[in-house]
Amino acid sequence: DLAPLTRALLSVSDKTGLVELARALAARGVALLSTGGTARTLRQAGLDVTDVSEVTQFPEMMDGRVKTLHPKVHGGLLALRDDAAHRAAMEEHGIGPIDLLVVNLYPFESAVAGGADYDTAIENIDIGGPAMIRAAAKNHRFVSVVTDVEDYDALLAELDANDGQTSHAFRQRLALTAYARTGAYDAAVSSWMAGALGEAAPRRRVFAGTLAQTLRYGENPHQSAAFYVDGTARPGIAAATQLQGKELSYNNINDTDAAFELVSEFAPDTAACAIIKHANPCGVATGPSLAEAYARAFDCDRTSAFGGIVALNRPLDADTARAITEIFTEVVIAPGADEAAREIFAAKKNLRLLLTAGLADPRTAALAVRQVAGGFLVQDRDTGVPSELRVVTKRAPSEREMADLRMAWTVAKHVKSNAIVYVRDGATVGVGAGQMSRVDSTRIAARKSEDMAEALHLPGPLTKGSVVASDAFFPFPDGLLAAAEAGATAVIQPGGAMRDAEVIAAADEAGLAMVFTGMRHFRH
Ligand code: 5GP
Repeated sequence: DLAPLTRALLSVSDKTGLVELARALAARGVALLSTGGTARTLRQAGLDVTDVSEVTQFPEMMDGRVKTLHPKVHGGLLALRDDAAHRAAMEEHGIGPIDLLVVNLYPFESAVAGGADYDTAIENIDIGGPAMIRAAAKNHRFVSVVTDVEDYDALLAELDANDGQTSHAFRQRLALTAYARTGAYDAAVSSWMAGALGEAAPRRRVFAGTLAQTLRYGENPHQSAAFYVDGTARPGIAAATQLQGKELSYNNINDTDAAFELVSEFAPDTAACAIIKHANPCGVATGPSLAEAYARAFDCDRTSAFGGIVALNRPLDADTARAITEIFTEVVIAPGADEAAREIFAAKKNLRLLLTAGLADPRTAALAVRQVAGGFLVQDRDTGVPSELRVVTKRAPSEREMADLRMAWTVAKHVKSNAIVYVRDGATVGVGAGQMSRVDSTRIAARKSEDMAEALHLPGPLTKGSVVASDAFFPFPDGLLAAAEAGATAVIQPGGAMRDAEVIAAADEAGLAMVFTGMRHFRH
């Protein structure tokens, strides 16, 4: 067991809770050491503080680049208190022990997220702070290191419970947090540099994030889970503000992300809505108004839309809000909501409403990461757009078919492979997702559309007179023929199959118009 704390070094950029903490430490007889700005804040609050520059006998210099980088500081943090040679070294060089280090770093991440230019970003890279944090964390057998404002209260409670010291287990947890912080900090610097240098390739990169939220559980109740943000401040789920409703779950976050990424493909000059279940769209539609877009998306698959996630490309209005609240919906995400809509939602306490600052740019280059046993798979996110749509059949698509083909192709990019998407007049009328065979996806989508037609008391399947997109090529004519049978009149697909000639001949025979994208959109 260690003797009570005698000396603490406080050096913080974020001064939240600083004075209260310092006052509580002083009240427990702890001497305070501090750097320039931190010391000033403490003195203004009437506290007794020694400047680090007085200890080091060096002024803080070079715009603060060199403040605490000195053996009088690092020796005090790193010395093993129970080692005779270390104690002799302290004695010989006049090094006093530092038992507690409280540091939070220059705000590099928020500076970069706020659009700092290159030189400003560089100046926001903290050097002495991480050095001290790593030193104190290494020596956690003797030293407590606090790097998170949220831990101030826990520290004081710990001191009260342990006669003015911390327990070894507590110091270990603090050290773990400290290394997570310096690791994430350098990862943020590295990622920013990769961006600044235009080094988009997924090489020589490190992946780290900052804990944003612990979640009640993961995909299933027996899995624990948390949400980390990567500091890039990309518009979307991580940057959204929750206005009301229950806490977001792991699945909510995953599905809401999928929904918002999809709806962001639609420029707001046309209203658009995407309804997502289990990360796949069960309805996507455009319309003359947002309410109409929602209604048309809902009509693609009313059964699946129950308990879904709704994403909108325009601010939520009253009509749309009213329609959404007619069924059970988990989450709504939109770039804003007007007063009337907010009022309507307020009556549904559990319904989660997330607001974003705008739409996400589907062309923004970024890395997509997924985990496999023992590693990470890293790739560019799928921002691909076909350079041309090549007509390969005798009949070319009509203008209306072409518009629907483009939409079907866009939606297919957001559907798990094998993806088949039927679109008619700017609304999906059948989605086949995640099947192991392409022809099964084609049939499932068509069958669901038959079910919907029945439920809506409409004649025939909704796929009649639609167009169809396939995320990858049709290897055989069978999938294409199944689509024709469902009533599709035009097809969009990558092409490039061994049997392309056979597939094209089958399309011609069925009177279909077909375009090749020369690009596929697998999503697994
Ligand atoms: P203050 O506001 O007290 O002047 O500065 C506090 C900040 O300085 C903290 O974020 C701390 O991490 C950082 N810091 C402490 N020592 C050094 C150093 O030697 N070099 C640099 N660049 N930053 C330091």
